[in-house]
Amino acid sequence: MKVLLVKCHKKTIFSKIEPIITEPLELEYLATILNKDRINYRIYDQLLEGKSFHEVFHEYLPDVLILTGYITAVEVIIAHSRYAKDKNPKVKVVVGGVHAEVNYQDFFADTIDFIVHSDGLNGLQQLLNINFDLEQAVMIKGIAFKKKDQWQVNEKRVTNTAEIPLPDRSYFNKYKHRTKYMNYSPLAIVKTALSCPYQCNFCYCKMLNQGIYSTRSIEAVVEEIEKIDAPYVWIVDDSFLLDRNRILQFIGMVKLKEVKKKYIVYSRVDFVANNEDLIEKLASIGVIEVIVGMEAVEDCQLENFNKNASAYENIRTVEILKKHNITLTALFIAGINFTSSDFRNMRRWIKEMALESYTVSIFTPIKGTSQYKDYEEKIQVKDYHKIDFLHLTLKPEKISKLRFYMEFYYIYVEQFFRSKYIRRFVLKNIKEMFKGGGHLE
Ligand code: SF4
Repeated sequence: MKVLLVKCHKKTIFSKIEPIITEPLELEYLATILNKDRINYRIYDQLLEGKSFHEVFHEYLPDVLILTGYITAVEVIIAHSRYAKDKNPKVKVVVGGVHAEVNYQDFFADTIDFIVHSDGLNGLQQLLNINFDLEQAVMIKGIAFKKKDQWQVNEKRVTNTAEIPLPDRSYFNKYKHRTKYMNYSPLAIVKTALSCPYQCNFCYCKMLNQGIYSTRSIEAVVEEIEKIDAPYVWIVDDSFLLDRNRILQFIGMVKLKEVKKKYIVYSRVDFVANNEDLIEKLASIGVIEVIVGMEAVEDCQLENFNKNASAYENIRTVEILKKHNITLTALFIAGINFTSSDFRNMRRWIKEMALESYTVSIFTPIKGTSQYKDYEEKIQVKDYHKIDFLHLTLKPEKISKLRFYMEFYYIYVEQFFRSKYIRRFVLKNIKEMFKGGGHLE
């Protein structure tokens, strides 16, 4: 049996300079399962290899095709499944990943055989055990499958984080020179927990693992990091800085084992604002950047998001991270009710705080979140590739679409001229494009 594992992507307007390219971690986890069963496989991620899916499919001729991707890649995933079935009707097509976990119905297509909608590692292992036999598929929790043109959805399964093996990073080691987060490269990504215990109403991440926050042991996490052959490690938990004791344990273990890496982590503002002593310690073990979901600059807007954090904590976060020489990347949301003056307030706040690195997303209700139901009837754009937080999917409530887009993109133009951090990154990448370096398209 030959298995082709594919990470699917849809390009955005930022794809020319591709600020972030990471290893396909979920596929490297699946690789450990295939290694154990001595099954031949090949991982393919177009952002890392540059080849087209069609080329790779023809070269490899798989018996099983596994496709994953985010919400923007739904159409790409379905197109790849069609292509594969057209070229070889016998190929088994399996879809997984974070979008399939909550919105598995989006993949009820003629050219897809199985959808793994929870506990992906276990789901693949079980499918291998039954050799993708439809008669036995009814026994496997966490999957949906098509039998006689009818989709059957089996019960969900929660992942036991204690059972998660270390990922096989052979693919990363081959292509790590192409991985990056802004100016940091090579860069590995590490996941230490699933889901999030907070209840921000716009958030998709907290819906994963059936909304159950579950952590890996710090011993296993540090063991994984120690083995990574790259200077930068991005901990991609939806929020890594959550539990004070767990973070103290992480700091202690990294020191004890003398692990020398530079880290990028996600945090909430309340953690940074209320744990300055830990931020100092994190800086001392190599944390160089903290990405923080600030969302809004006013308390009333934060309350609307059920964020459970305050505008004052946003300010304290900026001050504390600056004091300890940690780069802050702040994430904001431009509300659908924004007026030009709301955009101005946000820009003014960013300027007053002297933020260099930040992104603003257009408010987008994501299918599966509690907010989606409130907006469902008003959603005007349903093409998945446009659900990238850079397109309006709802009609702005107080200004025209054109005005909204102008105000929105002005934030990025201003950032380019104001921020050395961003300018250095953009100019370096433009230079590389002209030199023909990399494989930017
Ligand atoms: S936005 Fe952040 S803190 Fe809120 S639920 Fe999502 S991951 Fe958790």
